[in-house]
Amino acid sequence: MLSIVTFVLGPVQTNTYLIADEQGGEAAVIDPSDQGELIVAEAEQRGWRIGNIWLTHAHFDHLGGAAGVADRINPPPPVALHPDDYPLWRIQGGAPFFGMRIDPGPEPTIYLHHGQILHLGSNQLEVRHAPGHTRGHVMFYCAADGVLFCGDVVFQGSIGRTDLPGGDYDTLIASIRSQVLTLPDEARLLSGHGLDTCVGEERRYNPFLL
Ligand SMILES: [Zn+2]
Ligand SMILES: [Zn+2]
Repeated sequence: MLSIVTFVLGPVQTNTYLIADEQGGEAAVIDPSDQGELIVAEAEQRGWRIGNIWLTHAHFDHLGGAAGVADRINPPPPVALHPDDYPLWRIQGGAPFFGMRIDPGPEPTIYLHHGQILHLGSNQLEVRHAPGHTRGHVMFYCAADGVLFCGDVVFQGSIGRTDLPGGDYDTLIASIRSQVLTLPDEARLLSGHGLDTCVGEERRYNPFLL
């Protein structure tokens, strides 16, 4: 089983997920959006060791806390990203477009690809490439726990914006149909913003998917 702690951080209220193997305490941070010191303090208090930073995509609001996490852990945890989002990572996740500057933290050294299996103790998470919000957006699916960390692909009653560079509406809808709606109705969706939902709820009520 995965233990999951949710933080809502940063200028646009982004969900950060600190996840850990319940037995061994190996932990990873999915989308450290801001205030890395808070994330590290929570892990330390629980006796968890953060060994990885996994990014769903490279928008600034999903990685603004990576530097703060990496600075407090020795050796710093490697950052994993899909290569199609590396150009976006290089420009601080688009922060300058919004009049902001961020420290994007350590260079990504793990390139994610569709179908890759990530290990966290005895837990396995499958990488699902879901372009449309950005070109290199990925989601992390733990089949055993029925949980999908879906970033900015789909939200409760909504979908990710497609008006930023690299976004494409038809591509996003196709990604949701092939990579989200193919999962069981009861699979939980932990999104990049807003409340948790599940596949069946969005299949039935999401106005963008009807
Ligand atoms: Zn985004
Ligand atoms: Zn976002």
